[in-house]
Amino acid sequence: MRHWLWAVASLVISVELAAAGFDYPLQPQQIATDTFVLEGKTEDFSKDNGGFIVNSGYIVTQDGVVVIDTGASRRFGEQQRALIEKTTGKKVIRVYITHHHPDHFLGNQAFSELPIYALPATTQGVQREGEMFSSNMYRLIGDWMRDTSVVAPNQVAQVGKETLGGHELEVLAFKGHTQGDLAIFDHTTGVLFAGDLVFNNRAATTPHAEIIDWLASLEQLLKLPFKVLVPGHGKITQDAEPIAQTRAYLVWLQTILQQAAANGLDMNEVMATPIPADFKAVALAQSELRRSVAHLYPALETEQLKPAKQAE
Ligand SMILES: [Zn+2]
Repeated sequence: MRHWLWAVASLVISVELAAAGFDYPLQPQQIATDTFVLEGKTEDFSKDNGGFIVNSGYIVTQDGVVVIDTGASRRFGEQQRALIEKTTGKKVIRVYITHHHPDHFLGNQAFSELPIYALPATTQGVQREGEMFSSNMYRLIGDWMRDTSVVAPNQVAQVGKETLGGHELEVLAFKGHTQGDLAIFDHTTGVLFAGDLVFNNRAATTPHAEIIDWLASLEQLLKLPFKVLVPGHGKITQDAEPIAQTRAYLVWLQTILQQAAANGLDMNEVMATPIPADFKAVALAQSELRRSVAHLYPALETEQLKPAKQAE
């Protein structure tokens, strides 16, 4: 009996120690030759997931490894880098940051001596809002953030193609999800890293969104001859379905917001709009709708009031 109790007690202790270790469940998923993704959950930030809610990728070139996005914390970046260097036997040589949202760049500290590339708008966004994002993340994921500080990208990503260690990589610059949305298209493997321009079965987030620009960017992405699509959040696919889904969701969002503004609805009424059956499989649709209304509706209401004011 004593032995049994002791066994249970030690099990509890070892589980607690593992939790105290703050180890992210990182499992490299090979999606093409030389190309891997660490796929995050389609959840909100929480103390359970430690902010591992985003897809980060890496390409193992002959010259070393190229990392795309560094996750939500110093711990994530460090564990990501250690895993990559252990499993590939190669050094990370370069990092790209797709945009300035905290789940995509707060692991930069683990790569700070390396070139970290981003679009100018992304670096400006990190400089402007990074500290605010970081304190918010301490509140949302707690000790997973320990010793995380903001490290801004240190190189300007040049749009266009470059051959690196046998991979022809193209940097593409878009906007719409934020003012600087970088995508990477690997012409050698056909993999497109779309960042948060594309969500798959996870509602799009809109704190810095310009929906018209975003829709135009999706049209451009659709023209690329990709074979594998890596969305910023959600499952990797071999078709363009997540682009179509993100587009349909944004069109719906834009339509309900415009109609609500035209009809003079207040924010609470718009937030209560039912999610159409088409998006029932989309995680966090109702909570992201509430956030999107808060982000986007005030401007639409103001626009709606303009003609009336001019007529006065
Ligand atoms: Zn984002």
